[in-house]
Formats: sequence, structure tokens, C-alpha cells
Amino acid sequence: MSDPAAWIAPWAWHSAGHCLIPPRNDPHGPGAAPPAPWSATLQAQLEGALAADPASQASWELACALLHQPPRGPLRPLADQRRRALVGDTVTFVVNRNLNFTNHCLKHCSFCAYRRDAGQPGAFWHSFDSLQARAQQAVQAGATELCIQGGLNPEARLEGSCLGYYRALLRALRQVAPGLHLHAFSPQELLFIAEQDQIPLQRVLEELRGEGLGSVPGTAAEVLCEAVRRQLCPEKLSARQWCAVILQVHASGLASTATLMAGHLETPAHRAAHLLTLVALQQTAWQHQRSGFSEFVLLPFIGAQAPAALRQRVGRDQPDLQAMLALTAQARLLLGPWFVNHQPSWVKLTLAGATEALRWGCNDLGGTLMEETITSMAGAQGGSRQTASALAAAARSLGRPVRQRTTLYGPVEEPACV
Ligand code: SF4
Repeated sequence: MSDPAAWIAPWAWHSAGHCLIPPRNDPHGPGAAPPAPWSATLQAQLEGALAADPASQASWELACALLHQPPRGPLRPLADQRRRALVGDTVTFVVNRNLNFTNHCLKHCSFCAYRRDAGQPGAFWHSFDSLQARAQQAVQAGATELCIQGGLNPEARLEGSCLGYYRALLRALRQVAPGLHLHAFSPQELLFIAEQDQIPLQRVLEELRGEGLGSVPGTAAEVLCEAVRRQLCPEKLSARQWCAVILQVHASGLASTATLMAGHLETPAHRAAHLLTLVALQQTAWQHQRSGFSEFVLLPFIGAQAPAALRQRVGRDQPDLQAMLALTAQARLLLGPWFVNHQPSWVKLTLAGATEALRWGCNDLGGTLMEETITSMAGAQGGSRQTASALAAAARSLGRPVRQRTTLYGPVEEPACV
């Protein structure tokens, strides 16, 4: 089937067309006057416009004005105030373990230092035994979550079925780590399973839920703009497909996270379009009494080991911290009451940078991870694990209270000693 929406439910494909907000003319683009400094009045106007219609011209113009605000000025204090009003002072984190089960991948995203062809140096595909051993270590370390993602490996099949492999993977992990929340498989991976087996996405979601899938990472979003994706990840699912898969994930009763990969080729207008689209998707979830997105995570681009073509165009190996802190604050303000939880990436910003992001609108420090492969292979400097104590100490260094949470921000019955 050549229809790009072939495995997606028609209603989700249709709704994705409404939720995906394309960039328009940027009133503050190159050569134009800078916007007025952001203020509580403009913030109220923005939230009013978004509540009425995130796709309106008023929403677009206010979003562009916000995305052009400089790091110095009212941005940080306003984002910090909005964070306090929406979610309070407590900083949260989750004790989790990443399981990146394979880096064999048939796609070639221009930013990706993780993918390999089978047999290439650095290629890996962990056995179920090895993954189960890692999951048992996570249980012993007091984890409440396994975060499971991998490359798109066409050899990953069980009795000819791609879905059969992914089902067996979750079953094997549940056997040794019963009770741990399984936060697994990006929209791209979910669509890959449906495409490989030529079955409806709905069946993929239902069968994986039956094996214990608890929620979905909102990765592979990159920038939700087709023009940017054509340069960044032309083989990947489109922005509209990402929205459609997320709509189906939410409708099925599963929550997901939301991400933005930034600091590469995108402009303020692309960022505005992406964040407005996230608001539209969250509003759709809430209109249907679904929980929708649980959090927003900003993922700064890491160039150090990225393929040379993109690395040279961007001209930077590590994130520009000031620019990413400004975007952290802008995202907090634009996503307003639709996203109460905002998380920086300590892997990409280092723990010191992520701690600083708590002053720019974030309220969560993410997870302990215990093992991080994808970003570390790109040359990130934040390391691949944190202890619960280190995350708690980072929050306390700002005089903020701290709480261990579950994946979906609930209380933990027996928190790690922090
Ligand atoms: S980003 Fe994901 S889909 Fe793209 S090449 Fe890397 S592993 Fe494959």
C-alpha cells in the first residue's frame, strides 16, 4: 500500500490534519522589528488565544513574538512564575532504566549517531536474556520504570511477525520485572511495527497494551514541520503521521510524553508551529477525556558525533546553553496550562545545565536512566546515569523540595533513599 496513512485509523489521519499547525509568515523574521518585551499581559493574551484556537492568526502572532524573546529580560522570571503557579516548587524525578535493545536501523536520519547496519562496527542487538538481566538490575536498584526504545530493525521478528517480537520483548521484561511501568516504543517504532506486519496501528496498540505497555515516549517528533523533516529525517514518519499516531495512542487510553529536538536547522517560526501543534493535540486529548501528554521534554541537538553533513551546517558540537534555557522558558510559557510538567535533558545539558533549567520553567529532572546509549553515542557530555541522590541534591541546591514520582507523576510507595 503506498498511502502514507495506510495503517493509521482514518479518523486519526483526518484529525492530525487539523492539529498539525504549519509555520506561516513570521512577523519578527529576518529584517523585521523585534517584538515588544514579554509581559504578564501578553502571556494572558496568548493563553486566551490558544484556548480559543491554537491555529488562529492571533495565536500565531503571539507565539512568534514569544519565540523571538531574548534570553535576557523578563523571560526567565515569567517562566519561573508560571511554573510555580501551575505545578508548585517541588522538583520531581523518576528512578528508571533505559533499555536500548538494538541500534540496527533501516533509516538514515541526518542527526543520528546511533544507527548502524547489522555487522557494522558498533552495531548491537541485545538478546532477551541480556535485557532481562538489565531489567533485574533495575528492580534491585529500586526502579519503577523501564524505558524501552530501539532502532528499526527489520530482522526483529518472531515466527515472521514484527509485532510478535515486540510482544515477546515486553513479556520477557515483565517476567523478570513485574510491576515496573513499561514506557516503550516511539510513534515511529509503533508505525514501523504496523507497516512491517501490514496490520492496523490499533491492533499494534491493543496487543502491546495486553503485554503491559504503560505509556509511550513522544520521541521521533524532532520538529513537527514537514519542510524541516525533509532535511532532517526524510525517511522517517512525517509530522502528520507523528500527530496521527499520537492521537491514536491517546485515544487508546495510553499517555505519552512530548519532545522537541532543537538547536539545529529550525527557526523560531518552526519552533512556534511545533509548540502550537502540541497544544492542539493536548486539547484534542482532553476534549475526549484522555490524559494525553504527561510532560514536555526539550532535546537539544548534539553535534559532536552526528553525521558530518548536518554537524557542519549547524557548526556546533554541544548545545548553546543560553539559547536552550531561553527556549525552555518560551516552551513553559507557550504550553501554559496544557503542559504542567517540563523536563530538561541532563544527558544533553549536563546535570548542572539541567539544574539551571529548573530556574527557567522546568519542574522535573527526568530519570536516573542507569544506561543511556542514543545521546551518548552522539557525543553528549552529561553521562549515561544519575543516582536518585544526585538528582535530589541538584533540586535541593536551589532550595526546592524534591519528590520521587512514578512515570505518570503519581506518588511512589517506597521511594529510594534520597
Ligand atoms: S533517529 Fe531513529 S529512525 Fe532515525 S536513523 Fe536513528 S535510530 Fe533510525
